[in-house]
Amino acid sequence: MSPDPRAALLEVRRLRVEFSTRRRTLVALDDVSFSIAPGEVLGVVGESGAGKSLTGAAIIGLLDPPGRIAGGEILLSGRRIDDLPPEAMRKVRGREIGAIFQDPLTSLNPLYTIGRQLVETIRLHLGFDAARARQHAIGLLRSTGIPAAEARIDHYPHQFSGGMRQRVVIALALAADPKLVVADEPTTALDVSIQAQIIELLKTLCRERGTAVMLVTHDMGVIAETADRVAVMYAGRIAEIGPVADVIHRPLHPYTAGLMGSIPAIGQELERLAQIDGAMPRLDAIPRGCAFHPRCPQALPLCRERRPELAASGASRAACWLHAAPSGVEDEADARGTGAPPGAEQ
Ligand code: SF4
Repeated sequence: MSPDPRAALLEVRRLRVEFSTRRRTLVALDDVSFSIAPGEVLGVVGESGAGKSLTGAAIIGLLDPPGRIAGGEILLSGRRIDDLPPEAMRKVRGREIGAIFQDPLTSLNPLYTIGRQLVETIRLHLGFDAARARQHAIGLLRSTGIPAAEARIDHYPHQFSGGMRQRVVIALALAADPKLVVADEPTTALDVSIQAQIIELLKTLCRERGTAVMLVTHDMGVIAETADRVAVMYAGRIAEIGPVADVIHRPLHPYTAGLMGSIPAIGQELERLAQIDGAMPRLDAIPRGCAFHPRCPQALPLCRERRPELAASGASRAACWLHAAPSGVEDEADARGTGAPPGAEQ
């Protein structure tokens, strides 16, 4: 029986990541839940320290110690992968999940030619013989726009420019035809002039192959032009998640509204929020209640006391008392003129 195409490819359920030190335990991700459908591009956005890269690292099983998954589960095609032994997870990574990092040299071994690295990956995961794997590798390099792929396959990583190296990394990530690619800031280290080309390449190749993408970035321009849905993270939690057009044009959460206030073109970094003062709290100083309340222009007294959970509003979900008000909060919002929207959910 063929799989249900609507079934989630990736499901992250109530994920919690902690960092334990001798003195205390810091919660870096708390109750993070989302899913990605086959072939879908989910953008994950937020300022530095929001937890977006950690979420990607947890999914691909590469959390740096002392970080560890302390709760929740991660399922790929319905199979739990967060509790796999390291060797089994290594097979999932590569065969079922491809990874692209900010620095291409994280993925490439400087001592081996790119051909050797591609051929090894293809042989390991697809079981091809050496000659067929080499042909497959050349085809992959061509598809990523590497000129003279037959010759370049025998070059070392340092013989490529940054942009060309990232193309090689994309070829490597797609080598075993994974169902999901986790791309963490894939263009941040690159020259501005080639960032858009690399994003376009990633988008085109994944669309052609039906590969789903989790695209972690602080670059709102990339999200706007690439993602189907977007998850906005703040202080280790999802603040809002929904279809990209809704989140950009009709943000529910005041933090999202601040993030979307100025969407730069691809390559222009969002150094700080244009419309919201302050900074993301440190892990050891996350405020109680809604973590965003010290920066929120619409904060209610309740926001300092109680943490809002994600609640549906239209096609999106937001963790904000303005959209998930317990009885009395709408009245309070009206009294302050903050304007909780009509029909806000209980
Ligand atoms: Fe602002 Fe309150 Fe909503 Fe948090 S819950 S974003 S403080 S209005």
